[in-house]
Amino acid sequence: MNRNNLKLLKYLYSTNKDLSLREVERFIEMEILHLQEFQSLKPIECPKRGGINFPCAICRECEIGEVEMLVEDNVVVEKTVNSIMIHLNLHVSDEFEKYALSRMKSTLSKSIQIVQKSDWDAGDFTIMVDDNMVSNEETITKVFWLVDYFQNNWKKLAISAKQIFTNWENQTAKQISFSYEKA
Ligand SMILES: [Zn+2]
Repeated sequence: MNRNNLKLLKYLYSTNKDLSLREVERFIEMEILHLQEFQSLKPIECPKRGGINFPCAICRECEIGEVEMLVEDNVVVEKTVNSIMIHLNLHVSDEFEKYALSRMKSTLSKSIQIVQKSDWDAGDFTIMVDDNMVSNEETITKVFWLVDYFQNNWKKLAISAKQIFTNWENQTAKQISFSYEKA
């Protein structure tokens, strides 16, 4: 394990009691999520879309925005000079889970700006990081935490959304049936 990642692993473990050491270890060992990769981002202006800090991982069409794509364990990293997109390929087993994920991303993106609403396909959860955010190690740790959280907890979240919906469905049907019988 790379020394910087080892440092980050210790930090993550000491600050996130929810994570088991094994989970964090497995996640931090991913070759494609290297601390230095994030720290090497530069504040280079996008020649096509202009504006300071326009993320080329989103523009994807300028000459400096050439995308380097890295794939490992259901995670795809798209790296450009000034920004990185991290795509998680979460498992969605049906239309309901697909809808729940899309709604969760949309709502989450209002409070966590690195979460992107758009998607590649049904199970896509995208995180966008620019050079500005990676200037401090703590922000990168938060990004890694979010990756890890969704990788490990999405299934649980989807099941609880389904349970809440099923309860509503049963109770409402019961009430309507009751009223129907009395009508
Ligand atoms: Zn660009």
